[in-house]
Amino acid sequence: MKKEFKEKLSQLFEKYKKDFVELNEYIYRNPELGLKEFKACAAHTKLLEKYGFNITKNFVDLETAYKASFKNGNSEENKIKIAILAEYDALPVIGHGCGHNIFGTTSIATGILIKDIMTEQNISGEILVIGTPAEETNGAKVEMANKGVFNEIDIAMAVHPSGEAHYRSGESQAMEALQFTFKGKTAHASGAPHEGINALDGVLMLFNSINALRQQTLETARVHGVITKGGEAANVIPDLAVANFYVRAKTLSYLKELIEKVKNCAKGAALATGTKLEIINYETSFANLITNKKLSETYENNLKFLGVTDIRSKETCGSTDMGDVSHCCPTIHPYFPLTTKHLIGHSVEMASATIMPEAYKGMKEATLSMALTALEIFQNKNLLEEIKSEFINTKK
Ligand SMILES: [Zn+2]
Ligand SMILES: [Zn+2]
Repeated sequence: MKKEFKEKLSQLFEKYKKDFVELNEYIYRNPELGLKEFKACAAHTKLLEKYGFNITKNFVDLETAYKASFKNGNSEENKIKIAILAEYDALPVIGHGCGHNIFGTTSIATGILIKDIMTEQNISGEILVIGTPAEETNGAKVEMANKGVFNEIDIAMAVHPSGEAHYRSGESQAMEALQFTFKGKTAHASGAPHEGINALDGVLMLFNSINALRQQTLETARVHGVITKGGEAANVIPDLAVANFYVRAKTLSYLKELIEKVKNCAKGAALATGTKLEIINYETSFANLITNKKLSETYENNLKFLGVTDIRSKETCGSTDMGDVSHCCPTIHPYFPLTTKHLIGHSVEMASATIMPEAYKGMKEATLSMALTALEIFQNKNLLEEIKSEFINTKK
């Protein structure tokens, strides 16, 4: 049966490839920032509609989010829900340097292929493709997780593009986005410096304190920031200085601890400089990713079944809003190769690689492997039970 599916899925991918290439290249040429992905969202939903999905636009009240659903079988049978999550936001200046154009296209292709096999083979269940905007900034998946979207889903999968090889779903860091605003008082920097309160000094002392703190944190933690406002003229004591930071840690509990320490650095800087301090969350915080091992193993076995031999574990770590999904339902977030060469994320080279002919090899492998995994779960209740009991046990 599985062999038959593999061949059928491969034929379907080739049959629809023209549409997938067109979508991928269109989004590449029209990069849009988070929550502004109007063209991408319209193109995604148009294609999913063409292939027979029911579309909910404005999903969770977000203009550029959507839900596409296909149900097969009667209401008693189609209770298993599998979601493939799509991303399509770009980065400032470098466009699709994270490859979310091909990311989203892969998710759509997977949904379409699964739907065709479900129809043809009379397989019961519900397949969803969920369009999740703003992964690079506000992370719409967090909002969806908070609204309970993923609590009703049995499995969630998404595969991200990368370089060199396929990578297993691993861990990601929990992350908090903190903005520190120091307020002081202007004065002539030479004539009356003693009458000013230097807000920039607050920011500089914050950086210095964090540099010292970094030596005492766990190796897996990261604290990194930029100065977004630091004064206007050298002869005016700055009355306003702002720094944006990301604080990242492997677990939510350590993140909480670290955030307190970082905030204390800011409070100390404010006290030392006599400035007033405001701290806000300027972007959505992300939870860490918990990979469901059984689900990950099923996906990996399917990759091997397709003939893929180079499957690696990722050594570097970042943050993704897939983390929040993984706290609601069994989740995987592996990577597929655009090329056999090394690629750096968030680069122009990465963006260019997404539209090269060789990119579709890795994309096809990821698509077929996700499809085989979903079809296996729809048909094998024991496998689903095993995945779910692991999820419940990790949550304990
Ligand atoms: Zn990305
Ligand atoms: Zn990215």
